[in-house]
Amino acid sequence: MITALAGGVGAARFLRGLVQVVDPAEVTVVVNTGDDDWFHGLYVCPDLDSVTYTLAGAQNAETGWGLAGETFATIDALTRYGADTWFRLGDRDLATHLVRTQLLREGATLSEATARITAAWGLAPRLLPMSDDRVATRIAVAGGELAMQEWFVREQCEPPVLGVRFDGAGAATAAPGVVDAILAAETVLICPSNPVISIGPILAVAGVRDALVARRDRVVGVSPIIAGRPVKGPADRLMGPLGIDVSCVGVAREYAEFCSTLVIDAGDASRVAEIEAVGVHAVTAETLMTDARVAAALARDTLAAVA
Ligand code: GDP
Ligand code: CA
Repeated sequence: MITALAGGVGAARFLRGLVQVVDPAEVTVVVNTGDDDWFHGLYVCPDLDSVTYTLAGAQNAETGWGLAGETFATIDALTRYGADTWFRLGDRDLATHLVRTQLLREGATLSEATARITAAWGLAPRLLPMSDDRVATRIAVAGGELAMQEWFVREQCEPPVLGVRFDGAGAATAAPGVVDAILAAETVLICPSNPVISIGPILAVAGVRDALVARRDRVVGVSPIIAGRPVKGPADRLMGPLGIDVSCVGVAREYAEFCSTLVIDAGDASRVAEIEAVGVHAVTAETLMTDARVAAALARDTLAAVA
């Protein structure tokens, strides 16, 4: 049994490699739901969907989000009604949000809705939302707070970040199976995801961080930061203002309490001693996942790092 903590795109790329090198049916993925939000009356779970679509081989490789071959007729039609359409939802993607919202309306939990959706995509790994309770990542900027997607998509990550808060996390309980999956796994993987807004919300759910600490020897992460920069996305715009060094060393410091080993890029080999100095074992590998073959090799290297 392998359990992985995941955000969206970076995690999905890594998991696509992981399922090449281990039995996919033995993989449990605990996914961030802090980015989830309502749009046009529909409940959208961006990270669950990115992981689902990528594991199904249906992801849009160009945009990095949504489905391949997607069209946007519905969202464009909504402009007639004056609806806010800065959050682009594809026509096929909308089917996922319609089904999820319907299931939730009928009383299903997010875990149950997720199981239905992933089964329909034929996924062998088990995907678990971090919690069935609503947790909303909020970004503090000058003049107030923004929902995660407002800052990320509408504002294009431009307003400087003053703080980050996971609204609801204090009262949220981990979804069924999450803590057990961490405690029972042979290896726990922290995917190369945004440490602040992808891994951070998962850690904020009661019981998750403690479970990881208990399994520290078997927890291995992959740095999303290569050569002092995120591969993609705004990790630097969040880490910097929150006092986290934008480097694999900064990631190691953030994870040190619950993660014994960190896989960093071969190009960052000069940082190994600094990582070891914070009590984390550093292992170098090729971590830029340019294709599925590199992702599979990285997954193998990551598992070997704690073998
Ligand atoms: P999001 O929710 O879609 O932003 O997804 P994640 O948090 O899972 O992924 C974003 C993170 O993935 C960023 O910090 C990127 O630096 C990282 N990432 C993306 N592609 C790669 C890659 O090929 N290698 C590594 N090491 N990190 C990557
Ligand atoms: Ca996300």
